[in-house]
Amino acid sequence: MTGGQAHRRDRRQTDAQSGLTRDRLYGVAEWRGREFTVVDTAGLDLDGAKDSSRSAIEAQTRIAIDQADVIVLLFDVRQGLTPIDRDIAQMLRKSRARVIVAANKADSHGEAHFAHELLELGFDEPSLVSAQHGLGVGELLDRLLEALPPHQEPSGEDDKADRLAIMGRPNVGKSSLLNALLGDERALVSPTPGTTRDPIDTELVFDGVPVVLIDTAGIRRKSSSRDRLERYSLLRGIHAMERADAVLLVLDASAGVLAQDQHVAGYALDAGKGLVIVVNKIDLVEPAERKPAHWRAALARQFKFAPYAPIATVSAKTREGIGTLLPTALEVVGQRRIKMPPNELNRVLREAFLDHPPPSFKGRRLKLGYGTQAAGEAPTVVMFVNDTGLLHFSYRRYLEKKIRDRFGLIGNPIKLVLRSDEGSRNRPRVSPPGAARRPPPQAGR
Ligand code: GDP
Repeated sequence: MTGGQAHRRDRRQTDAQSGLTRDRLYGVAEWRGREFTVVDTAGLDLDGAKDSSRSAIEAQTRIAIDQADVIVLLFDVRQGLTPIDRDIAQMLRKSRARVIVAANKADSHGEAHFAHELLELGFDEPSLVSAQHGLGVGELLDRLLEALPPHQEPSGEDDKADRLAIMGRPNVGKSSLLNALLGDERALVSPTPGTTRDPIDTELVFDGVPVVLIDTAGIRRKSSSRDRLERYSLLRGIHAMERADAVLLVLDASAGVLAQDQHVAGYALDAGKGLVIVVNKIDLVEPAERKPAHWRAALARQFKFAPYAPIATVSAKTREGIGTLLPTALEVVGQRRIKMPPNELNRVLREAFLDHPPPSFKGRRLKLGYGTQAAGEAPTVVMFVNDTGLLHFSYRRYLEKKIRDRFGLIGNPIKLVLRSDEGSRNRPRVSPPGAARRPPPQAGR
């Protein structure tokens, strides 16, 4: 449970992509090269009369607690503890997650401080922070990193497979689509499923390629009766998405696009996952509306933050378009493995800077030292520049487009990470053609 502001500063890359600011629960943050997902909960109020929206919010918080590795229990340092706070602390002590207590708004010395009271909760010393002024946030993030379990590299047979998460609102046809895909004659459901597989995973071999379909509709079927609200399946679905290479976001051609659809696409972007927008139930619309080109235009505004995502039009019922869906999705996963040779990448970046120099900001201009592809699942380019604060949002878009024009990366977001190279004269600059140098060690994620 973290304060919303705390993960948006300085070295962390939480891209505030335009059009995606409403009502976000999840963000992908990076600190000291480690990526983690931050869930901002609405909090708990174990007390009092509950209407249904209140209990929905609380159930969501409980799911977040279940799924968390680390819980940041945040207080306002100017307010003393209440009995409810103590109840919450007691409940969290029983969870498997590590709990870090933090006291926010620790910025004015004049006001009463209750930090000492927080020790009574039985956790370690609280971290004092001011999210507003950025004080103590770095130290809190360091504690958080220490508390996180070690990063697990994917390993084992199962991980050779391309992993696709089928996501979307209830009733858009996720289960029907899964069945339609399994009905394809090129798809062989694996007779020897891996031993560690999740119950919502279906393993298959498609045209010789091992694939795992992660069926988020299955989450709903397997959840208990108190779990029926739509919101919960979204939260769990997003957890499932984290295991995927690409997301198939299913929409219903006969219904509109809702904010939740945009959120799922936004989470996929933030998490660096591939994305295919699947418009299902095209049997219900006019023939003119059954082609991807129609939907490319119709959805352009709602998904303008993810113009790179291919659009597939299908009917799980009539099987129209089903045959091309997995090939499209597998191409998107394949594009994640593209290697951008350093010389070529630097040529593209240099030309982009020359063709259209960055605008100056308060008399200063972004200067490129060196660009390199970082290791990692999602396509990531690290650029060493004079000042990371000088990259304007529209210039970022421009550079991403130039990289995409050269390397494709269809269906995938490009992460453009900036590092400051000011003051370090011996770091590699742009290498002359034919003399590629190794990226400095900081370039990894
Ligand atoms: P889920 O909740 O997203 O898993 O959706 P389901 O697969 O359970 O489908 C919801 C309803 O939509 C069911 O009544 C399906 O029969 C229907 N449905 C699913 N796909 C299609 C389709 O392509 N065309 C039509 N007309 N109905 C569909």
